[in-house]
Amino acid sequence: MNENELFQAALGLMPPWLVDRCIFEQSAGRLDIHLDFPRGSFFPCPACGIPCKSYDTEEMTWRHLNFFQHQTFLHARTPRVQCSGCGIHRVAVPWARAGSGFTLLFEALVMVLVKSTPVLAVARFVGEHDTLVWRIVHHYVDQARAKADHSSVVQIGVDETSSSRGQKYVALFVDLEKRKVVFVTPGKDASTVAAFAEDFKAHGGDPDAVTEVSADMSKAFAKGIAASLPNAQVTFDKFHVVSLVNDAVNEVRGLEQKANPELKKSRYVWLKNPENLTESQWERFDALDVVHSHLKTARAYEIRLSFQDLFNQPAHLAKPFLDKWYFWATHSRIPAIVKVAKTIRRHQDGILRWFISGINNGILEGINSLVQAAKAKARGYRSTRNFATIIYLIAGKLDFSCLPT
Ligand SMILES: [Zn+2]
Repeated sequence: MNENELFQAALGLMPPWLVDRCIFEQSAGRLDIHLDFPRGSFFPCPACGIPCKSYDTEEMTWRHLNFFQHQTFLHARTPRVQCSGCGIHRVAVPWARAGSGFTLLFEALVMVLVKSTPVLAVARFVGEHDTLVWRIVHHYVDQARAKADHSSVVQIGVDETSSSRGQKYVALFVDLEKRKVVFVTPGKDASTVAAFAEDFKAHGGDPDAVTEVSADMSKAFAKGIAASLPNAQVTFDKFHVVSLVNDAVNEVRGLEQKANPELKKSRYVWLKNPENLTESQWERFDALDVVHSHLKTARAYEIRLSFQDLFNQPAHLAKPFLDKWYFWATHSRIPAIVKVAKTIRRHQDGILRWFISGINNGILEGINSLVQAAKAKARGYRSTRNFATIIYLIAGKLDFSCLPT
């Protein structure tokens, strides 16, 4: 086997394509493999498939996987065929997609790397400009997403995640059963859900078939869900609901600590449940003598713990439990607690819906932390489009089987 035959076999070339010559320049650290085809070869017309003769050719170059540590390029005069039925067309070469300066195998390598490594780092690693690497990533994510089928989706979770250092957010829509991101869009208002519904329809989804949605208690989402997902029952995500009560406890502590300096730096003690306190937090907790304390913060904390206990009730006792809690909270004479109790009362249908639907945004929390970790590693993204593409890539469970392995 000579070197041409070796590379021909390694590249998996099929007739009429063959390796014509290889030029290895050690000092330049590169290998150039020149491909060709015998005079008079036939190529299938890209439109109808009928074998046609070459009409003319254009010299093209593709970056390929490295040959050991050396950059490798394929070169070929690429024919256009003149088909009697379809006219003149450039033929498709089997090693690259139309319009790309990289081979499919090189792009496949990039797509594997970008799943775990920031694009800029991948670009440096392969020695290409990051714009070109982003172009590859966008192409394959867009293509895989175009094929995504949402026809069986009936449960949706929606949440927001911060997209940049400023107060910019994107909304994530997740298929709660398949645990994957199905849609990413900037902003959070009623039109956010409408944008989801449009995209959902474009992927075979039926907005009328969505029966359960998990969301926070924002008016924007509620309005959008009512308008665009008319048959959906909303479950307010219990993590969001509990954190609202937590915020109220923290507000009480903030007001009270001016007169009671022992409350200073105790914020995290009140945010946790007793069983999750660290040893030093337990010491603080003990020192504050929470159980016998006359501090409003301690009472607010007890009310919060009790609220959480709602989710441990059997379904048929949930409503009476919440009613009793509401009475207690609204008679606490702690303004922040009264206020949050009233908010909870207004949203009780969606809170109690959990006892029927059993859904929450736990999956979204997990996705959120993956996405934020990727963002931190990448030191942010230049555009929302880049951010959305990475979210689809790591949490969209997309099918990239079009790429060679
Ligand atoms: Zn044709």
